[in-house]
Amino acid sequence: MIEISLSEIADLTGGMLHGPDARITGPVVIDSREAVPGALFAAFAGEKADGHDHAPGAVERGAAGVLGQRPLPGLSVVVVDDVQAALGELARGVLKRLPKTTVIGITGSSGKTSTKDLIAQVLERHGETVATRGSFNNEIGHPLTALRAEATTRHLVLEMGARGVGHIAYLTRISPPDIAVVLNVGTAHLGEFGSQAVVAEAKGELVEALTLEGTAVLNADDPLVRTMAARTSGRIVLFGRSPEAAVRAAEEWYDEEGRARFSLVTPEGTLPVSLRLHGAHAVLNALAAAAAAREAGMPLHEIVAALSEAVPVSRWRMEVTRRPDGLTVINDAYNANPESMRAALDVLARMSEGRRAVAVLGHMAELGAASVAEHEKIGQHAARSGVACLIAVGRAAAPLLEGAKQVGSWNGECVQVDDVGTAVTVLGERLRTQDVVLLKGSRVAGLERVARALVEEP
Ligand code: ATP
Ligand code: MG
Repeated sequence: MIEISLSEIADLTGGMLHGPDARITGPVVIDSREAVPGALFAAFAGEKADGHDHAPGAVERGAAGVLGQRPLPGLSVVVVDDVQAALGELARGVLKRLPKTTVIGITGSSGKTSTKDLIAQVLERHGETVATRGSFNNEIGHPLTALRAEATTRHLVLEMGARGVGHIAYLTRISPPDIAVVLNVGTAHLGEFGSQAVVAEAKGELVEALTLEGTAVLNADDPLVRTMAARTSGRIVLFGRSPEAAVRAAEEWYDEEGRARFSLVTPEGTLPVSLRLHGAHAVLNALAAAAAAREAGMPLHEIVAALSEAVPVSRWRMEVTRRPDGLTVINDAYNANPESMRAALDVLARMSEGRRAVAVLGHMAELGAASVAEHEKIGQHAARSGVACLIAVGRAAAPLLEGAKQVGSWNGECVQVDDVGTAVTVLGERLRTQDVVLLKGSRVAGLERVARALVEEP
């Protein structure tokens, strides 16, 4: 964070400083164990634990002040009504002092983290970059990420999640984006939103918040994203596979490991890209990253060089491991929704050409009333794409098998297991060394534990 005094923090947040003023020279932390000299400790009062009780510990570790809801004896505390709102105000105020930092916001139903990591890896080569860690994209994670920006930060790359209308608008009031990237409007978290139109309304708030000179970077292949162009008077750059996309992929193909190769077509020219990332959606995410980096002023050849070296940094997203005995494991266990399930099954099909494809799938959460039908469709997709053995983990995943069985021409094997442990046992009995195994399901399904059993303890 930039250096700032507690009295300035009180001004920015509408709070009242109790105790002596001090300068914050370190980061903002919400866990007292992460406090370092010069830090600001933000005390949240949760249901189970009250951060205020840990404030003395934070100060002992060197924290120079506290942001909290009540004065604490012997400590310098900026007292505010609402610590979360105050963090937002603080981040907003600090960003206003960093006019040279380009703010890049990324939203969409799936692929936010993958794309954010890609954009950050590309932009890092162009100038100092701060990005959201993991998926820490909510009302607390967002301001904390923004507050990591320094005077020398050229790019601030922010993943923005929405679980309802108004959420992204809240985040963008903290950090109005100069570049707004919208990936897709899918069915992820559909249960909470109600309909795709509402999801589109919520994600489009990012575009509405663009700064005056800002640019919307929109997926040309997704009709609900394209229409968001009408929600800003700023510049629009389309990316995707559609011919009208300014930044698009041509001559797309995949090597035997499923890694994507394509020609990156832009108004400045066309250059070949070979990704270390797997699957068709990696191409889309790379196009989004290229379009965003181009808007941030990065030359095309540098973008291409950076894309070609980018690696998946967030774990359990299309992590491909080839075991010494020849077994290939695709660990995409981080999360699942219908779009990403299809994309992952397509990668499995491509990577398993001439080999046996095994899919170990957990359920897709948060689909609401559409759940059973969506699972059946994925089961059908798995059968049609030639999966030889389909293992459904947990009761909620059972409709996957029903769907697969509906495909008359399919003669693969269906196995229903109750839990991850049984899945590991079943795999132990069935796997052959040249097989390719895909592991995927919603976070709660915990399929990464199967990956751990297969890869780290073969
Ligand atoms: P969350 O809402 O949980 O933060 P996210 O939007 O950040 O999710 P990722 O974590 O990047 O998404 O990826 C989630 C899943 O979607 C992974 O299985 C990944 O392989 C897949 N995925 C990545 N990019 C895309 C894309 N462009 N379209 C569809 N699926 C994608
Ligand atoms: Mg994420």
